[in-house]
Amino acid sequence: MIVVKVGGSAGIDYDAVCADLAQLWQAGRKLVLVHGGSQETNRVAEALGHPARFVTSPSGYTSRFTDRQTLEIFEMVYCGKMNKGIVERLQRLGVNAVGLSGLDGRIFEGKHKDSVRSVENGKVKVLRGDHTGTVEKVNTGLIELLLGAGYLPVLTPPAASYEGVAINVDGDRAAAALAVALKAEAMLLLSNVPGLLRAYPDEASLIRQIPAAEVESYLEFAQDRMKKKVLGAAEAVAGGVGRVIFGDARSGQPISAALGGAGTVVQ
Ligand code: ADP
Repeated sequence: MIVVKVGGSAGIDYDAVCADLAQLWQAGRKLVLVHGGSQETNRVAEALGHPARFVTSPSGYTSRFTDRQTLEIFEMVYCGKMNKGIVERLQRLGVNAVGLSGLDGRIFEGKHKDSVRSVENGKVKVLRGDHTGTVEKVNTGLIELLLGAGYLPVLTPPAASYEGVAINVDGDRAAAALAVALKAEAMLLLSNVPGLLRAYPDEASLIRQIPAAEVESYLEFAQDRMKKKVLGAAEAVAGGVGRVIFGDARSGQPISAALGGAGTVVQ
C-alpha cells in the first residue's frame, strides 16, 4: 500500500499526477490518493469576498483561520472542484476512482479546536470560532471496502470532529495518519518543490536522504507550510511507515520518480 498526498499549491500538474497514478494502479499497485487545494481555495475565497486569513502560532506554524464561512468555501473547493476534478481525470484514464472527504464515513476523525493562538505585531492573541483540528483517528473500514471492490479512494479534508462537526485539518498529517492506519510501505508528499531544501528556495540545495530517527531535527530547514510535511513524515515513520518521500509534482511522472528515489527520502 502506498499513500500519495498531492498538495494544492501553484504549479502542481494534476494531469501528470493522475496519469502516473493510473498507470501504477492499472499495473496492480494498491494506492490511496489524498489531496489539498489551498491555492484554489484562496482564489475562490477572495472572489467571494471572504479572503483567507492566515495565522502564525507562537511556535511558528502557519494555518488558515477557519470560521464557518471559510469552512464552507473550503468544502466547496476541496470536496467539490478539486476532488471531482481529480476523480474526473482518473475516470477518463479508466480508473474507477471514488472521491470522499474525511467526513464521509468518518474516515478522518479528531478533536475540534475552537480557538487558536495567533502572533500579531509581536503580541499573542486568542481567536475563537475556529473550525480546525488534527486527525487523531482514521477509520479505515470504508477505504478497505472500496479497495476490496476495486475502487481507488481519493480523499480530502475536512475531517469529522468527535461531535460530528466538520473541521479543517492539515492534509499532510492526515495522510500520515492514514498511512500508519493502512500500514503503508510508503507515503509520498508531492508538492511544487523538488523536496526538502536546505536553503529554500534554492533548488540545488535539495536534501536527498534523512535518517528516520533524525527527521525532526530537519524542521529547522522547513519554513511555514513545509513544517507540517516534516512533522507528518516524522509521525508516519514513527508509526511504522517504511519510507516517506517529499517529491515534485510539477511535471513528468511524479509518483514513479519519487518511488524511484527522486526527492527527499526519509527512511
Ligand atoms: P502543498 O499545498 O503543495 O502541500 P505547501 O504549500 O503546504 O504545499 O508546502 C510546500 C511549500 O513549502 C513550498 O511550496 C515552499 O514554498 C515551502 N517551503 C518552505 N520551506 C521549504 C524548504 N526548506 N524546502 C522546500 N519547500 C519549502
